[in-house]
Amino acid sequence: MIPYKHEPFTDFTVEENKQAFLEALKQVEGYLGQDYPLIIGGERIMTEEKLVSTNPANKEEVIGSVSKASKDLAEKAMKVADETFNTWKKVKPEFRADVLFKAAAIIRRRKHEFSALLTKEAGKPWNEADADTAEAIDFLEFYARKMLELKNGIPVESRPGEFNRFDYIPLGVGVIISPWNFAFAIMAGTTVAALVTGNTVLLKPASTTPVVAYKFIEVLEEAGMPTGVVNYIPGSGAEVGDYLVDHPRTRFVSFTGSREVGTRIYERAAKVNEGQIWLKRVIAEMGGKDTIVVDNEADLELAAQSIVKSAFGFSGQKCSACSRAIIHEDVYDQVVERVGVLTKELTYGDPTELSNFTGPVIDQASFDKVMSYIEIGKTEGRLIAGGTGDSSKGFFVAPTVIADLDPKARVMQEEIFGPVVGLSKAKSFTEAIEFANNTDYGLTGAVITNNRHHIEQAREDFHVGNLYFNRNCTGAIVGYQPFGGFNMSGTDSKAGGPDYLQLHMQGKTTSETL
Ligand code: GLU
Repeated sequence: MIPYKHEPFTDFTVEENKQAFLEALKQVEGYLGQDYPLIIGGERIMTEEKLVSTNPANKEEVIGSVSKASKDLAEKAMKVADETFNTWKKVKPEFRADVLFKAAAIIRRRKHEFSALLTKEAGKPWNEADADTAEAIDFLEFYARKMLELKNGIPVESRPGEFNRFDYIPLGVGVIISPWNFAFAIMAGTTVAALVTGNTVLLKPASTTPVVAYKFIEVLEEAGMPTGVVNYIPGSGAEVGDYLVDHPRTRFVSFTGSREVGTRIYERAAKVNEGQIWLKRVIAEMGGKDTIVVDNEADLELAAQSIVKSAFGFSGQKCSACSRAIIHEDVYDQVVERVGVLTKELTYGDPTELSNFTGPVIDQASFDKVMSYIEIGKTEGRLIAGGTGDSSKGFFVAPTVIADLDPKARVMQEEIFGPVVGLSKAKSFTEAIEFANNTDYGLTGAVITNNRHHIEQAREDFHVGNLYFNRNCTGAIVGYQPFGGFNMSGTDSKAGGPDYLQLHMQGKTTSETL
């Protein structure tokens, strides 16, 4: 087998690639506005009630109208998944892995089409959409290989006259609740981790990005996934989400999204309901309030570039985004000034234009939230760049920098999930790390320093799941930088890591007397 290597990113300065992407945009435009059914046990079901997915850069443009699951349909899907589990769990791991390899190959051939769809449905600029699709391919390739490594379990010792084995078996029906910000990668990654390990899945994709999820299910079907293994049931969190999280036949929930929803799921899943004979597992990937620390011995240009790139890539709508920087007082003024200059140079607008660095935020609620935090920030600190927004056509917010903040200010503590970064000053490197740690979260962070002792100090004391030195704090690569955080960032399940699949399985020991 070819060893795993991550999918390369597309260079859009190459004319041929640019043309191919423009073609893909046209192709996607050709199928906008269609109606999509639910998929339960392979059956297509159209419902009256729809989720209407629109382009966040152009509210009038409908990406697709997707049938919405009711409680009854969620129940039907659960029955199908529960039944299908009895056969799917006995299907050889090689077969399950092959479905993933084949799906990866199909997506690779249609790479730009998927990325163009993300540009339209999620408002991702070209390079971010390309990275999202590449990451989806990576999850398929990586988890398929990992399953093949685990298929014979893990060796254990045996005494003379005895033969012991330790094998992994699947759990049951998994409810996958996926986010809109990595509408392809995380949706696909969480789904296939569950199915390659032998579980069956009820997929409830984010309400703002259901079309890309539908297209992905079609790919899995084309790749040979049997019917009933993954069931596609978009719907409202309050209705379908709660119902399935509470369901006694749900064996585990894999969730990526906000802290608020993640905490709610964790609480509800802990309750043992009537007829339930297990304790549910929850895999939760939640928010972040990620910090870049700038030391006084540091490449200041690199520091400013890293802050700007991590704060404003995809308009800061990543759990990994830099939403705060703590800068040593000796270099504070220089870094603040440079961050301001670089931010003002950023272009934002329609993400289908390659020249735009970033696009809109996802919807009206997000726009309103971000704008209200900008108002709070103006009272808490000094506005350096941005500060404006316009939601007349799409949900556009100018990349915004607020300086001179107290590290305990709201803008420095609460997750905004938009293009806003707060800057604070520290008296020493040690104080900077203390400030970096003073949030409820612990997802990503970066340290910009030329001091090796400080690198080691941060390695020990900077309490985040993904810590980067002398670079940006976004863009973890599957299989290279396992991704997931501490504290209120989630259950420290590391997506794309060596122990991720085990979260979807249970260990079975067998011991034979010879
Ligand atoms: N894995 C992504 C990154 O490293 C972030 C995922 C997320 O925002 O949920 O940038």
